[in-house]
Amino acid sequence: MAYLKVRIFEIFTSIEGEGILYGTKTLFVRLAGCPFTCFYCDTAEALPMDSGKEYTIEDACNLIEKNLEEQTYKVNFTGGEPLVQYEAVTEMAKYVKSKNISTYLESSCFDSSKFSHVLPFIDFAKIEFKTPDAEFVDSNHYANLMENALDCLKNAIASNKVTYIKIVVSSKTKLDFFKEIVEKIFKTTSKNKLSGFFIQPTFGIAEPSLDQLLKFYDLVYPYYKEVRVVPQLQKLIGIP
Ligand code: SF4
Repeated sequence: MAYLKVRIFEIFTSIEGEGILYGTKTLFVRLAGCPFTCFYCDTAEALPMDSGKEYTIEDACNLIEKNLEEQTYKVNFTGGEPLVQYEAVTEMAKYVKSKNISTYLESSCFDSSKFSHVLPFIDFAKIEFKTPDAEFVDSNHYANLMENALDCLKNAIASNKVTYIKIVVSSKTKLDFFKEIVEKIFKTTSKNKLSGFFIQPTFGIAEPSLDQLLKFYDLVYPYYKEVRVVPQLQKLIGIP
């Protein structure tokens, strides 16, 4: 572990724009690198594995310390795909927790064993379910992705983490696929264990219509009345 390095694309303070902690002052640690291909990805510059800058874990923790402003609610490990560098994220999350600051993981949930490695040091777990139209992976790998995301959900709930669901929808999202995901989610977990269910419309690209959004909402509502359709705040007010 002593020689563990991490590539960080950027680190900055902003307002959380998604999910149950929408609106909270947050230190974002954006890890470099993501091997996936979502068509709506808005962090294209952070996708190359050699983007950003390499740090030792000690230097990365010092960087977090230096950037941590007063009144920061949480540190969000985002990407890229943070779990590509899961061992480094684990070490940084441990450090943040030692400072009594909450930690949040913003992952695509593509690998439940990497997710479980980081989980003990994460307070807020966003479990993302990618629909096939996101083009995250090709159709041959989709079933495996779904299994991993469901395992991440089970593990987060079993570890008593504050857990919520996010699904990004676009004009291309098929209702029957969305329905299938929702059914699997509520077969896996009881609604009482969830702290939220967010349907997040794409912004600026293949945006879903109101009619589509209402149909997605209507599919979740019978299982979970606290479902919300919420766009990303940062896109609306033009902040990073
Ligand atoms: S998983 Fe996230 S970072 Fe990777 S391509 Fe999809 S949206 Fe972009």
